[in-house]
Amino acid sequence: MEECIRLGICPFCWENLAEWHDAPVIKFGRFWAITANDHPYSGAKHHYLGIYAYHISSISELALGAGDELLSLFSEFCAENDIVGATAIMRFGEMTYTGATVSHLHAHIVSGASKEEVMDPKYPDSFITSVLGYKVPE
Ligand SMILES: [Zn+2]
Repeated sequence: MEECIRLGICPFCWENLAEWHDAPVIKFGRFWAITANDHPYSGAKHHYLGIYAYHISSISELALGAGDELLSLFSEFCAENDIVGATAIMRFGEMTYTGATVSHLHAHIVSGASKEEVMDPKYPDSFITSVLGYKVPE
């Protein structure tokens, strides 16, 4: 990841995915490619990305119908993979406000253990947190 950023290559532009993203694309839509996150959050059982077809950084630039397609693809993907509960996150805009590492618009779908499974020692680190931005100092 650091190497491609250093070289000025966007790892999420579709023409770069095969070379710079390890996980294969599972599903292509007209606007989104669904793939596993190469760097899943600690404790996640499932962490997938929806990567937009074009290099944009803001939701205001999305094509008409792109949002619907993303939710439809995530919904189908969860049904096909028995993911019964998850969180969808999309950071956008100025990265200095979001903590994102890649400016290319993408959405995350993350699922950890169920409340019952957290009690199972097989998933001791299944507490998932989401970065929502930076806290304004008091
Ligand atoms: Zn890109």
